[in-house]
Amino acid sequence: MTNNVPSEFEIFPWNRNFETGIDDIDQQHKVLVNILNRLAWHFASDTSELTSDQILDELLSYAAFHFKFEEAIWNKALSEDEMARNHHDAHQMFFVQVEELRNSREPQEEVLTRLFDFLTRWLAFHILESDRRMALTVELVQQGLGLSEARNRVDSELSGSASVLVNALLEIYGKLSSSTIQLMREKMARLRAEDELSRIQHERLHQALEEQALEYQQHLETLAYTDALTGLWNRNGIVRRVREYLGEEVRPENSAALVSIDLDNFKDLNDCLGEDAADRLLGLLSRRWLDAIPADACLARTGGDEFALLLPDANHAESRLEALRLTARQPFELDGVEVSAGFTAGVVLFPDGAVEDADILLRQADNTLYRAKHEMRSGWLYLDAGERSQYRARQLLLEDIRRGLNQDEFRLYYQPKVNLRTGEVLGLEALIRWQHPRKGLLSPIHFLPAIEHHTLNIQVGEWVLRESLRQLQCWDEQGANLNVSVNIAANHLQSDNFTGSLSQILAGFPDVDPARLDLEILETAALGELDKAVKMINDCRQLGVTFSLDDFGTGYSSLSYLKRLPVNTLKVDREFVSGIEDNSENLSILQGVIGLSRVFGKQVVAEGVETVRQGEILLSLGCECAQGFAMSPPIEATRIPAWVTNWQTFPEWALTRASENP
Ligand code: C2E
Ligand code: CA
Ligand code: CA
Repeated sequence: MTNNVPSEFEIFPWNRNFETGIDDIDQQHKVLVNILNRLAWHFASDTSELTSDQILDELLSYAAFHFKFEEAIWNKALSEDEMARNHHDAHQMFFVQVEELRNSREPQEEVLTRLFDFLTRWLAFHILESDRRMALTVELVQQGLGLSEARNRVDSELSGSASVLVNALLEIYGKLSSSTIQLMREKMARLRAEDELSRIQHERLHQALEEQALEYQQHLETLAYTDALTGLWNRNGIVRRVREYLGEEVRPENSAALVSIDLDNFKDLNDCLGEDAADRLLGLLSRRWLDAIPADACLARTGGDEFALLLPDANHAESRLEALRLTARQPFELDGVEVSAGFTAGVVLFPDGAVEDADILLRQADNTLYRAKHEMRSGWLYLDAGERSQYRARQLLLEDIRRGLNQDEFRLYYQPKVNLRTGEVLGLEALIRWQHPRKGLLSPIHFLPAIEHHTLNIQVGEWVLRESLRQLQCWDEQGANLNVSVNIAANHLQSDNFTGSLSQILAGFPDVDPARLDLEILETAALGELDKAVKMINDCRQLGVTFSLDDFGTGYSSLSYLKRLPVNTLKVDREFVSGIEDNSENLSILQGVIGLSRVFGKQVVAEGVETVRQGEILLSLGCECAQGFAMSPPIEATRIPAWVTNWQTFPEWALTRASENP
């Protein structure tokens, strides 16, 4: 409701003519008039029925009190006179009539109008005529007049002009009240109508705005999910559609197929006809394909000349693809030249059971397409069950690794790197393990290959860096001042911000001298873009860290390459150490590697020293530094301080003098 509803009004204003001269009675009359006015207000403003009813109850009960009070005065002054009895009967009639009106079955509105009309007239009459008469009579009796004489006097006083006045007043009040109420009701109705109108207008406006917002949203969606060139869905669009499809409650058995399509020789066509014509071909082809696929299928352009197709009914995949092939083959007219198109496709049938992610399905289709492109010139291939389960297993492992990282399930074991002759502990190689909640302690072969090309590898690598620096700090506190080597994966080393992130990690351990950290990298990791690798290694060395070339000898590095790579140390792969006792070929390789490292001024560390004899041979070749089971396997960090304290080199090695080196 609006605020412009008038406040309560007096339909029945108090008038001095109402006064009887008896104070108490006049006060009570005022209360009655007030209640009547309130009732009129509620009636006119059409508030709840309940309120009118409550006010009416109030009126009745106040009237009962008032009548009793009044009658007591009359009776006292006029002692049980007939006049007083009549007055009492008139009072009782009042209740009877009100009840009768109230219980009427006529429409509410009608009843209220009549009730109100009755009440105003009755009250006016009760006050102006009946009570006045009584009060005057009482006054005269109290002045000493006999009762019948007093009554005669009153009769004559209230006849003639006085009775005309009373009748006129009654008439006026009657009319005034009913027309005022009528006016009020009309006014209130108009106000309500205005309110309703403004509410409706407001609603309309709101609705219009909502419609506009919806349109805008639809427009945005169109932009986000469709391909402007062809009007087909784009990659996001089909992923969304596949996701919706996967989310459907009931999917028919052997349901959908997802097809990744790549046009054959599109690049040639582009070069030869120009981009515009090529674009036109994409548009025309899209239109033809849209006509060739069933209504429930979904076709998208996912890249330049790449398309994806969702077929909810995989049973007909073969014939649908055949139809696409035939329509593409029909010649297209482009600037007077006739061309036709062919394509290669990878098809993935939706798995029956476990619901896979839409992204994964599309990637599987893409991978199958790439395999198809290698194996055939044109046509389509299906993802086979073996591939699917392999793919699935890898996805699960990735998920598990991610979870393991979050749950802090990875551990670092440490393997000492020593000087065989002096026994000095040069450092410890950090080697990752996974304390898997179900599978137990896993060595890296069980999980690192799965993330070899994945960004997760970087997360793992950063964890290893941080954890080994934290461990150094921890050993420092225990009085063991040690160095650590960390294996850096190829994609981690080649990641955009390797140097920056390394320096940030180092900054987190201000008490650890970066020179105590050695990074073991693989030849293959640095092989890619040599200039870039050299710059990156030099940048990192500026931070203080050193570099080792891991698994040295297994790669293909040319001598010139080795010369340019700014690493400090070469770690000779264990392949060349094993069997040196009786493998003369390995022995000469080792000899060569060691000689080479001298020429280039690099340190050499031999990996995989398992026997005392192997150590002796290495020493005799001039290689003093080594790692291997002969000294210690990788062990937990907590065991390192004790190992360092107890470790003594073998007497056979200690006896070798440096001068014996060739
Ligand atoms: P790697 O860098 O060549 O590490 C040496 C591997 O040889 C370790 O295997 C070690 O346990 C094993 N080994 C050491 N001494 C001997 C020995 O005398 N005889 C024999 N037979 N083996 C020995 P592990 O710990 O299973 O690690 C395997 C590979 O996983 C490592 O080869 C390294 O390439 C990779 N790796 C381990 N930890 C990490 C890591 O934190 N980050 C990265 N990126 N790679 C890691
Ligand atoms: Ca290593
Ligand atoms: Ca190695």
